[in-house]
Amino acid sequence: MTTDTHSRRTKIVATLGPATDAPGMLEKIITEGVDVVRLNLSHGQSDDHRARAAAVRKAAEKVGREVGVLADLQGPKIRVERFANGPVELREGDPFVLDCRVDAPAGDATRVGVSYLGLPGDVKADDVLLLDDGLVAMKVEEVVGTEVRCRVVIGGRLSDRKGLNRQGGGLSVSALSEKDKADIKLAAEIGADFLAVSFVRSGADMEQARRLLHEAGGKASLVAKIERADAIPVLGEIIDASDVVMVARGDLGVEIGDAELPGLQKKIIREAVQRNRAVITATQMLQSMVRSPIPTRAEVLDVANAVIDGTDAVMLSEESAAGAHPDKAVAALRRICLGAERQFEPKEDLTTTAGHRLDRTDQAIALAAMLLASEVGVRAIVALTESGATAQWLSRYRSAVPIYALSPFDDARRRMLVFRDVQPVKFTHDTLNTSVSAREAVRQLFAAGKLSEGDRVVVTHGDHIGRGGGTNTLRLLSVGADGMVESLRDL
Ligand code: PGA
Ligand code: MN
Repeated sequence: MTTDTHSRRTKIVATLGPATDAPGMLEKIITEGVDVVRLNLSHGQSDDHRARAAAVRKAAEKVGREVGVLADLQGPKIRVERFANGPVELREGDPFVLDCRVDAPAGDATRVGVSYLGLPGDVKADDVLLLDDGLVAMKVEEVVGTEVRCRVVIGGRLSDRKGLNRQGGGLSVSALSEKDKADIKLAAEIGADFLAVSFVRSGADMEQARRLLHEAGGKASLVAKIERADAIPVLGEIIDASDVVMVARGDLGVEIGDAELPGLQKKIIREAVQRNRAVITATQMLQSMVRSPIPTRAEVLDVANAVIDGTDAVMLSEESAAGAHPDKAVAALRRICLGAERQFEPKEDLTTTAGHRLDRTDQAIALAAMLLASEVGVRAIVALTESGATAQWLSRYRSAVPIYALSPFDDARRRMLVFRDVQPVKFTHDTLNTSVSAREAVRQLFAAGKLSEGDRVVVTHGDHIGRGGGTNTLRLLSVGADGMVESLRDL
């Protein structure tokens, strides 16, 4: 077990796949610092995901760390259908037809089926369609009935079931497919802590997913994957309807062009944090580590820059799911995050709340706690929180102080695992006396080695411990000799 995981602020998400199914690999990546695992529902059968979720809970227990499970819906990704005789080579200048008939025959070098029947209505002459994440591109020449007749502008190999995007976005396919609706039930059944919705276009898409999840009895936090050009003009509305957002750089880069990505990543992170939401930065963060045991310098800089941009979490995709070194990729993320955090302590001017919307009492307490923490100088912030809401508000103010979030609820603690700076701790209040509980919390953190004699802490809690969302109180305490908890009098 690496000791530095205790002081790391940025969270690590890792996608599961064949590479993490290897014996002992889950324990290894959890030991190296994975906070949340992603089940990619685009691949595999329901039973595979059930088995992986169970294996994760077991491995986490064995290692002695809490690990969240994120179920990631496939979403309405538009794909070409299959080819009769395997992949085809398309050359620049070739004509090619996308055939949107219900029962289009298997494809060849001149045409292929597309199961999204709405495509002919969504595109027009001169639109550019990108296949296989842009490795092949074609320009629409005309739409005739169910046929979209194109001319290849970037040639290459095209194989079965590759994705199709329109440059600039604008395909009107709805956000949740029938498979997604079934997978929402699966996510609820396996007790997923996070549910990611792919290709979100609006706040309404997120509300629909939330309603279906609740109907299925799920309690997961909702993650909006920002990966369509159409999502950008309504970013604020999408963020407000979500708990977490993901900068899904893979598909987003295809739709908006790679040159727009750096600016958009910064904008999405900034907006999410200002709107009191967590944000995960994803895709190709350490892509070369799919094969290589070490990252490239460019990848090191990319991960560090995401940390400096203020992301809550960074994510591995193929690197952990199908790579040669999942454990080394997690170790590299941990090392790079720590390095970036050491070099660039976030400094936020807490005397102004400009940009942060403030409309709840627990938010106001969180701001006051962070202000006090920086003015008085404390070792930690201790939040007695049922749902984790206070921990979320606290962590939106980037500070250099760890936030210990104490909750008796396993699911609430796991949902806090994406918040930067937050370390969830299991804590059962044995009294309704809040003053006694606050002291007991600090005493337990001292006993666990997280606080030392002489440390000052800010504790936040509500009037009635055991009732969610009621944080309205701040206390300044200090740790005296032998862990005796005292009220802080002289500053
Ligand atoms: P995916 O989403 O890995 O499910 O495609 C992330 C992305 O598009 O970047
Ligand atoms: Mn995607």
